[in-house]
Amino acid sequence: MKVLIVGAGPAGLYLAYLLKRQDPALHLRVVEQNPPEATFGFGVVFSERALEFLRGDDPQTCNLVSSAMEQWSDLALNHRGTRIVIDGIGFAAIGRLKLLQLLRQRLASVGESPDHRCAITQRSELDGYDLVVGADGVNSFVRRGREGKFGTSVEHLQNRFAWFGTTKRFETLTQTFVETGEGTFNAHHYRYAPGMSTFIVECDPQTWERAGFAGMDEAGTRARCEQVFAATLDGHPLVANRSMWRQFPKVRNERWFVGSHVLIGDALRTAHFSIGSGTRLALEDAIALAKALREHPESIADALGAFEAARRPIVEKLVAAANASADWYEHFAAHMWLEPWELAWQYIQRSGRVDVERLRRVSPAFVAGYEAHRAASAR
Ligand SMILES: Cc1cc2nc3c(=O)[nH]c(=O)nc-3n(C[C@H](O)[C@H](O)[C@H](O)COP(=O)(O)OP(=O)(O)OC[C@H]3O[C@@H](n4cnc5c(N)ncnc54)[C@H](O)[C@@H]3O)c2cc1C
Repeated sequence: MKVLIVGAGPAGLYLAYLLKRQDPALHLRVVEQNPPEATFGFGVVFSERALEFLRGDDPQTCNLVSSAMEQWSDLALNHRGTRIVIDGIGFAAIGRLKLLQLLRQRLASVGESPDHRCAITQRSELDGYDLVVGADGVNSFVRRGREGKFGTSVEHLQNRFAWFGTTKRFETLTQTFVETGEGTFNAHHYRYAPGMSTFIVECDPQTWERAGFAGMDEAGTRARCEQVFAATLDGHPLVANRSMWRQFPKVRNERWFVGSHVLIGDALRTAHFSIGSGTRLALEDAIALAKALREHPESIADALGAFEAARRPIVEKLVAAANASADWYEHFAAHMWLEPWELAWQYIQRSGRVDVERLRRVSPAFVAGYEAHRAASAR
């Protein structure tokens, strides 16, 4: 079988490793437009039990990546000068570049490596393969021009965000809400290496307009964001890496494959970064597709059908949670009238996946603090 994987992000790399591991005779080509050391963004965070979902079938990758991760338990919200800690959630984070390096290492262990600096730009380059996998991210080339066939929709959220790093180390994943004369800002920040943190700045379109970001270059944007979050950054700089303002695209496809062309990862669907699941979903897509191909060696069509049937219900649940979370962020300025405990209480339940009983089990200190606050307010 001849397989082409377009894109060597987490989805493409991990699928390539799994396919080659289960069939060393496979004729596989993985193409990546960027050089090996290039990547966008900084660290990515995983919620709950990090990469434990890999352990059963692939303990080597699980151990390799897990040991390079920063781990911690709590989440904090800074609002109106008060820090509220939500205990017991559990997070792990890793630099995006580091994750890609480790996945390439796994791929090398089965004798493969991606063709870097090789962008697919012509439809004809997809010919001659039994299976073409579009693991080529949000702006997928494999999908492009065939949106009607895939049933693709791309809807952009209204908020603007810019993805920075910083040398300031944060002990927990923290959400910091700031009010300025221009409007309200939020930052999502957490460490992903001992001396580096991700720092994503978000604001609504009105604030973005008033702050004059439309006419600012990357250096001006970085400097202004440093001012807005000066108290949080504590003298540390923001680090830019193509940190232009963007609007998050909600990508959906009614059909996951057309003929022998299948989409996985962000090419298939995005999940808002506020629930920290896009990378995990990408890796899980790879696992599910590799399994379907293993179980249906006679027919690509059957394998792709089985992949979609098994995976769609799980993905739809997660995407619904991601949408609910994204919607909360779209209106975060309106939530900021809440005082800190109430904001934290509403925030942690925003995706609809965490009810009060679960919260009581997972975050007993937070629930006790909230109840004490309510009792004191009622007096
Ligand atoms: C601000 C922000 C923060 C995020 N934070 C988190 C987080 O904390 N946790 C988390 O789990 N996820 C997070 N994500 C989501 C995560 O980055 C993606 O879900 C994940 O990278 C998807 O992996 P992928 O392999 O599908 O796509 P990508 O990582 O986008 O990889 C696609 C690859 O395909 C290559 N490519 C594209 N077109 C071509 C072509 N024509 N020819 C050759 N190569 C091509 C690209 O260069 C790229 O390397 C975040 C996303 C954003 C925007």
